[in-house]
Amino acid sequence: MKKVVILGGGFAGVDAAIHLQKMKYDVTLISDREYFYIYPTSIWVPTHESEFSDVCLDLKELQKAHGFNLIIDSVSKISAKENSITLESGSVINDYDYLIVAMGASKMKLKGVEHTLSICGAPEQSLAIRDKLDELVAKGSGKIAMGFGGNPKDTSAVRGGPGFELLFNVHNMLKKKGIRDNFELTFFAPMPEPGKRMGSQALKMMDVMFNKLGIKKHFGKKITGFSEKGTNFEDGSTLEADFTMFIPAGNGHKVIQESDLPTNEAGFVKTNNHSCVENEDGTLTNIYAIGDIAALEGYDWRAKQGHIAEVMAKNVAHNIKERENGRRKFKGYHEHLNILCVMDSGNGAAFVYRDEKRAFMFPLPVVGHLLKKSWGKYCRYSKLGKIPRIPGM
Ligand SMILES: Cc1cc2nc3c(=O)[nH]c(=O)nc-3n(C[C@H](O)[C@H](O)[C@H](O)COP(=O)(O)OP(=O)(O)OC[C@H]3O[C@@H](n4cnc5c(N)ncnc54)[C@H](O)[C@@H]3O)c2cc1C
Repeated sequence: MKKVVILGGGFAGVDAAIHLQKMKYDVTLISDREYFYIYPTSIWVPTHESEFSDVCLDLKELQKAHGFNLIIDSVSKISAKENSITLESGSVINDYDYLIVAMGASKMKLKGVEHTLSICGAPEQSLAIRDKLDELVAKGSGKIAMGFGGNPKDTSAVRGGPGFELLFNVHNMLKKKGIRDNFELTFFAPMPEPGKRMGSQALKMMDVMFNKLGIKKHFGKKITGFSEKGTNFEDGSTLEADFTMFIPAGNGHKVIQESDLPTNEAGFVKTNNHSCVENEDGTLTNIYAIGDIAALEGYDWRAKQGHIAEVMAKNVAHNIKERENGRRKFKGYHEHLNILCVMDSGNGAAFVYRDEKRAFMFPLPVVGHLLKKSWGKYCRYSKLGKIPRIPGM
């Protein structure tokens, strides 16, 4: 039985393990976390609408449901040339036929970023954000700023959506408590039109939302760093805040940057459309890279998203099977590139869709919020195999 080692237990790694295990490969998943973290629903942890445990799915439960091997350890080195990986515990694994790299992205480090917390960072940060917000609620007033940064070397690694969602949810939480008027909420981003890649209609709707909810905008100035006071900009100005939530753009994973894998300028693993890493002469290696860790090629508006990670995982399982059977009807991710999300506002949501032909956003008051909540449960139970998977979800 051919051996497949998968590095990372997120959307990409978990789905690859499930698909390959179903195809009867000898699959080992290696993760530095004991749980799969459902990032899209983590936006409700800071506002107490979800518990941290609601967003975590124990990898041992997934292992029990699907039967793959599981190692909880951190990958410290990958050598393509030696066909080996080294774990933090010192173990070296070099007896695999295929390696799937799915360890997500690292984050760009801006000066003073330690004065901020990120909803897209280490999972525990959602709890730290919750504590910070609780402190301000107890005080009864304050200034809260939320925003995101860019990566000029790879725009697909920029993530702003969860920042919009969290700020809208905070607005609603404060309103419910009857103290919204005592707070100044500001959204900031270095680009003049943050959210533009979702399409022009979405951009207009976001603007309407900001105005309706009384959220200030601070756009179009390059961020130079952070301090205890707030966010500093290139023109010497500071956006003062009692609490700043900042989502740095992603860049290449540290282990990848130190490996011999080919990368793009931002440090993401270069693959072909079938998610396979190629040799210099264009022949296929036995290594695949999927999810946020992979360099996403294509349209200007492309974005690293969970559903793209899942498409890549499914494709790779298929592509490995094709190779093993001596066929080459490989599947690629390019044709599946789109932006798809239900952007939550705490009391409703907006459905956002973008591909090369269409871009639209329409409001889903009340029902949108319930839809996203249900998706969280669907994600958990479908991955555990307790309910069927719906294609594309
Ligand atoms: C707050 C938030 C909201 C989002 N909302 C949406 C949405 O609505 N729709 C959507 O499509 N996408 C959304 N996304 C994006 C989506 O979550 C990511 O694209 C997705 O998580 C990428 O999956 P991944 O498996 O590549 O990486 P990750 O989910 O980051 O998983 C990487 C895994 O690798 C592990 N790992 C890392 N380093 C090591 C190491 N050295 N050794 C071993 N294991 C390691 C990590 O512990 C983690 O389990 C959201 C993201 C965030 C943060």
